[in-house]
Amino acid sequence: MNTEWADADRLAALREGITAVDERDEIPVEAPATGEQIGAIPACTDEDVAAATERAREAQDDWAERPIEERVAVIDRFHDLLLDRREDVLDLVQVETGKSRRDAVEEVMDVAVTARHYANRAPKLLASERRSGAIPLATKAVVHRQPVGVVGLISPWNYPIVLTVSDALPALLAGNAVVCKPAEGTTHAALLARELLIEAGLPADLFQVVSGRGEALGEPLIGGVDFVGFTGSTAVGREVAALAGRNLVGSSLELGGKNPLLVLDDADPEAAAAGAVRASFANAGQLCISTERLYVHESVYDAFVDEFVAATRDRSLGAEIGFGADVGSLQSQAQLDKVRSHVEDAVEKGADVLAGGRARPDLGPYCFEPTVLAGVTPEMDVHDEETFGPVVALYEVGSVDEAVERANDSEYGLNASIWTGDDARGERVAERIDCGTVNVNEGYAAAWASIDAPMGGMNDSGLGRRHGDVGLTKYTESRTVATQRFAPIGPGPLPDKLWAAGLVPALRAWKRLSELRRRRPWTNLPGWRS
Ligand code: NAD
Repeated sequence: MNTEWADADRLAALREGITAVDERDEIPVEAPATGEQIGAIPACTDEDVAAATERAREAQDDWAERPIEERVAVIDRFHDLLLDRREDVLDLVQVETGKSRRDAVEEVMDVAVTARHYANRAPKLLASERRSGAIPLATKAVVHRQPVGVVGLISPWNYPIVLTVSDALPALLAGNAVVCKPAEGTTHAALLARELLIEAGLPADLFQVVSGRGEALGEPLIGGVDFVGFTGSTAVGREVAALAGRNLVGSSLELGGKNPLLVLDDADPEAAAAGAVRASFANAGQLCISTERLYVHESVYDAFVDEFVAATRDRSLGAEIGFGADVGSLQSQAQLDKVRSHVEDAVEKGADVLAGGRARPDLGPYCFEPTVLAGVTPEMDVHDEETFGPVVALYEVGSVDEAVERANDSEYGLNASIWTGDDARGERVAERIDCGTVNVNEGYAAAWASIDAPMGGMNDSGLGRRHGDVGLTKYTESRTVATQRFAPIGPGPLPDKLWAAGLVPALRAWKRLSELRRRRPWTNLPGWRS
């Protein structure tokens, strides 16, 4: 491979960052572009997870004591270092995932945007906040925020930098330590990001990495941390939620999707097709928010399909390190098997392949062509199951109502996309879609990159949100301090009966006052909301 990451010593140096307190069995790591083994990570044990959590906890106290400006300064420096060292990062991401460099660039951009955003927002979000007290003027209520402590992050392989570091940044800014369990195949990418954070000034013990199989490490990890952020499949998400419930720690679960894209009757077929190609085949379809179902209005169906199929066939496929191919390799044999089985099952049951449909071992052991299917029916696996690969199904619909109904006919609810000539109409249709994010005239990036807004899934696509204010405050505990002055809450010197009798008219008057304030906001007392 034409990259310095082919050097075993460089990878071995990165692995020094893994918390393994003894010699461990090894799990091989391969480069999907060639199928070669590039190294091996230790299969950490319960003992390693306990050591990592303990070290993280010790480092966290001091970190949380530091003024927020100091924590922000570390993340600001990390932002700059990441951009300076982007070629190195892109190379390693390509080596471990096989993705195209263009898709790898999105990872660097996302982490930079996240670092900038939360560095700006953290001081405001973490500042103590005055709230309405129980009795106006007599009760002073102030909400303070403190870090939860140690945050466990369990992440998948498809965006190895984003899905470890972008979730870690707000946790660290909030004063937490992190114990990260990256996917087996992409542990080195997470370690490189950790190295940059340390170079930027993060205390090394504050960001622990344990490597190995999730089945073995999930339980000890979730048993030792104070919050778990999980990104991965819905099936594993349920197990993580159960463990978090048993240990009574908070969790956020970013899970799978079967994302619809709607082309309305007033859409420009060419623009919609170009957007749909990007939405369907970015990261070779191994993107939780990428499109797998297309509902196209009959009046534009033929024109759209012609453009979409032609544009799909135009995507170049390849697995080399560097810019070149539009679509990269799948990440593993398991991914290739899943994608191939969905296509074969659909074809056996009568689907038509309009583009692609074949593995391309001549380009890379796990390369699979961007594939467009028509005639997909409910008994085919690809109809409802997440493929998580470069395979989409086309459906013709007769109305917006039908498109919305079929888009919502899924157990998932992660991301959707609507194409229309009228933005306002698109926004109205968006309100009817049961997904955590809906993009109008864009596939997925508009909502994902609008980092000030929450992002996550409804239904089986998850619980909780990343991005937005909640993307940081979820890593905090709130403490409300309420101080009572002048008058007590309760009867005080009044006889109970008199107090109880007076309470009802007082509550009625208060409600009337609230209604007046709702209608005439200028009558509000400063800071009084309830
Ligand atoms: P996965 O659920 O198999 O693995 C994800 C992580 O969980 C890995 O680190 C794995 O080692 C670990 N894990 C496995 N079993 C575990 C267990 N019992 N306890 C604790 N951890 C365990 O998912 P994957 O195949 O790596 O990733 C693909 C899936 O992730 C797709 O479904 C995709 O849609 C989803 N995903 C969702 C988002 C999102 O933001 N919603 C983003 C990326 C990927």
